[in-house]
Amino acid sequence: MVIIDGKKVSLDLKNELAVSVAALKEQTGKAPGLTVIIVGEDPASQVYVRNKAKSCKEIGMISTVIELPADTTQEHLLTIIHELNNDDAVHGILVQQPMPKQIDEFTITLAIDPAKDVDGFHPENLGRLVMGYLDKCFVSCTPYGILELLSRYNIETKGKHCVVVGRSNIVGKPMANLMLQKLKETNCTVTICHSATPNIAEFTKQADILIAAIGKANFITADMVKPGAVVIDVGINRIEDASTKSGYRLVGDVDYNGVSALASAMTPVPGGVGPMTIAMLLKNTVQSFQRTHGV
Ligand code: NDP
Repeated sequence: MVIIDGKKVSLDLKNELAVSVAALKEQTGKAPGLTVIIVGEDPASQVYVRNKAKSCKEIGMISTVIELPADTTQEHLLTIIHELNNDDAVHGILVQQPMPKQIDEFTITLAIDPAKDVDGFHPENLGRLVMGYLDKCFVSCTPYGILELLSRYNIETKGKHCVVVGRSNIVGKPMANLMLQKLKETNCTVTICHSATPNIAEFTKQADILIAAIGKANFITADMVKPGAVVIDVGINRIEDASTKSGYRLVGDVDYNGVSALASAMTPVPGGVGPMTIAMLLKNTVQSFQRTHGV
């Protein structure tokens, strides 16, 4: 079984991006800039935002973090986004989710200039993705990272049956739509399952490529997987584990021990899809810079 090592691929990609950023600086005298806005003090979000800022700096990009109090009004947040939309030094804008109740996520998503929406959440970007204009949109980072893994591991996808479990706007839907495109790394027959799908195993067992984005620890067990399948585990779930210092550990949506015994290739959790998400955010920001400057 091949372990699809997202940690290694993300480091390779970051090294490649660092070289591109240095060349772009040389060429234009400017650097790509990513601004991340965080509203409130959710500890997990703070960790994600810190990691994003650190990764930006590692590859020579400009990183700005705007920290706003939990009682920030939607109007104030919209004003800040408007300013960033008009700031030439900002190539990517990201508002960390989840947001406090008084802020409507969709209103915020719509307010971000699609040309700076490096998360790929704006309907303009998602719509272009669905239509297959991948070079004219931003692909949301987690599905984009999975595409990169499939490509770098030379996973045969053409004509294969890909089953995606989960239909969220940030993972399941863009993922399934990507796998459907007529690209070298995709071109699959696609099935999407969700919480109302009866007998889910009947579908997952048909998958040549199984992508789980459910948010339920160890949901996909060995009896649900076809021998030889490629299994991509997007899930990040905390489960109690008294043997660790923190008292918990992270597991995916797939039962790794059982499924790795029959899969042909599989992503681990942690160290699979997770590290790719930030790497693709950097890639999207560099792409935004290149489009803005025509380089
Ligand atoms: P959501 O909660 O938004 O979506 C979960 C999806 O799974 C929904 O479509 C839901 O169906 C479906 N689902 C839930 N329960 C079942 C079930 N019993 N049977 C079948 N389908 C079910 O989650 P996200 O898509 O945002 O994230 C999914 C997982 O991926 C989470 O663990 C999250 O932490 C992780 N994640 C990891 C990232 C990474 O970088 N590695 C990035 C983003 C997310 P329905 O629509 O019917 O409710």
